[in-house]
Amino acid sequence: MLIDTHCHTNFKIFKSQVDQVIARACEAGVDRLIVVGSDLKNSRLAVRQAKVYPEIKAAVGVHPHHVWRFLEKAKSQAQVTGESLDDLRLKVVETVREQLVELIKASPQEVVAVGEVGFDRHFYEKTQYETLEITQEYLSWQQAFFIMQAELARDHDLALIIHNREAVEDLLKVFAKRPDLILPQKTVFHCCEPDERLLEFAKKHRFFLGVDGDVTYDHKKAKFIQQVPLEMLVLETDSPYLLPEPERSQKQGLRFKDRAAEPRHVAVIADYVANLKKVKLTELKKQTTLNASLLFSLTEPVA
Ligand SMILES: [Zn+2]
Ligand SMILES: [Zn+2]
Repeated sequence: MLIDTHCHTNFKIFKSQVDQVIARACEAGVDRLIVVGSDLKNSRLAVRQAKVYPEIKAAVGVHPHHVWRFLEKAKSQAQVTGESLDDLRLKVVETVREQLVELIKASPQEVVAVGEVGFDRHFYEKTQYETLEITQEYLSWQQAFFIMQAELARDHDLALIIHNREAVEDLLKVFAKRPDLILPQKTVFHCCEPDERLLEFAKKHRFFLGVDGDVTYDHKKAKFIQQVPLEMLVLETDSPYLLPEPERSQKQGLRFKDRAAEPRHVAVIADYVANLKKVKLTELKKQTTLNASLLFSLTEPVA
């Protein structure tokens, strides 16, 4: 048994293919999927998929990259109404909180986590937001969204899936100020950057670290994962992104749609990490499945 602890079958690229994607995952021994939201719309879809497929559980949340949409909208509104952006931030965060609470309360069997949420300072060459820049204003919105969503995980006893890209300090600063948001054994640094500060913090507070397909081609990451105790690791694909080797090389140059990673690739990642850490594959599968079950409080077997 393997669990993909982070995938996006709720993304457009998998539209009308979810049946086949799950069938291929099960064939590869991946029989449980955590489908993660990045905005309100695809969080709702993650929950709907969890209602249809017994293999799926859902995470709901707004990704820091998509916080930009809320900020943009608020800026145009401020120009019309003359309201301050600070006031609007409070209002917007409250509205999003209400919508997430509604989703969580309506589907207690399906929703196991809040995510993915956090901080992102990366400059994306391809993004739907043409004007996006990493400003102090934007970071303060990311922070407000993160705090609100971490509070939701804490208050509803859900796991917290943290996305961090090039923003370790922003993230750790919040935890230093708000120790009430540190949820031991209920938090994962998803697609964890190879950073000693994150590893140290995770060890101290018993967080889990997510390892993805990029471990098969990113040497820095592979070296980092070698040092992470097995008791802290969970496997994830972040599909459709991060297709692992050897398929990554074989499919180079194809359209994104034709080189999308899928939950089945957790089996490839498991193999690679077992070799990397010099442990038996059966042991790696057993421990990472146990870790994921603990993180998401998964108890009942897949139907
Ligand atoms: Zn992410
Ligand atoms: Zn993701």
